[in-house]
Amino acid sequence: MGCIICKLISEEIEVTKVYEDDVVVAVMDIQPINPGHLFIAPKRHIESISELDEEVGSHVFKTATRMTNALRRSGLKCDGVNLLLADGGSAGQEIPHIHLHVIPRIRMDGSGFKFRKGSIRPPDRKELERIAGLLRRAFG
Ligand SMILES: [Zn+2]
Repeated sequence: MGCIICKLISEEIEVTKVYEDDVVVAVMDIQPINPGHLFIAPKRHIESISELDEEVGSHVFKTATRMTNALRRSGLKCDGVNLLLADGGSAGQEIPHIHLHVIPRIRMDGSGFKFRKGSIRPPDRKELERIAGLLRRAFG
């Protein structure tokens, strides 16, 4: 047993780290979409966003921002960047340790980012307001 990301953090398995501090680590992905693909993970084992405190979450995103800028300055091919975090199996989360991918994208790189098309008939304003109301109450 054991979490593969925790093992990367502890270097129990081979890893190439780009950056590390007390809170997060940035690691080269071994199945990169394009060269430079990395991910940022909190060092503490955190399975989902609901367990992520805002300070750590902010630090993850701040590190992703800096890594995105580093990618663009690095000389690697990078026409665009996707930041991708999968929270939950239905969102594509495969490892139960939250991590934010920083994926350099190259024009015509053959990878997609596909969602099914939205509703054929857009919701009316009343429906958008009803849903926003649910979210406002839950947001607190
Ligand atoms: Zn872990």
